[in-house]
Amino acid sequence: MPIPTDLRRKPASGKIHVSSGAGVDIAWADGHSSHYDFVYLRDHCPCATCNDEREKKESLADASPAFQSSALPMFKPKPRAQSAQAVGQYAIQISFSDGHATGIYSYDLLRTICPCSECAALRR
Ligand SMILES: [Zn+2]
Ligand SMILES: [Zn+2]
Repeated sequence: MPIPTDLRRKPASGKIHVSSGAGVDIAWADGHSSHYDFVYLRDHCPCATCNDEREKKESLADASPAFQSSALPMFKPKPRAQSAQAVGQYAIQISFSDGHATGIYSYDLLRTICPCSECAALRR
């Protein structure tokens, strides 16, 4: 029997390790568990500003394929989480050390971007 979508998107339990900087752990209602680094979450920030930035980067990479492979990543300090809080039943909000705090990570999004190899394979 197929697993209903809502179970896959529903956290059974979650932990946000702000002080240790270890990231976010979520155990889902369907038995899957996910771990997210804060750096990963910062890169996947769903707010409009970051969406724009990601789109710009992608179009830059399209226009000049060498851009992505040859350009060294600019050094910037790894973002850390300064604080995090639950937003109702459906999302978490994270304030990052670079001052960015507008990203609200819904559990729906978090399950979609789960970085484990199993989910990465499903996204292909
Ligand atoms: Zn953002
Ligand atoms: Zn996964």
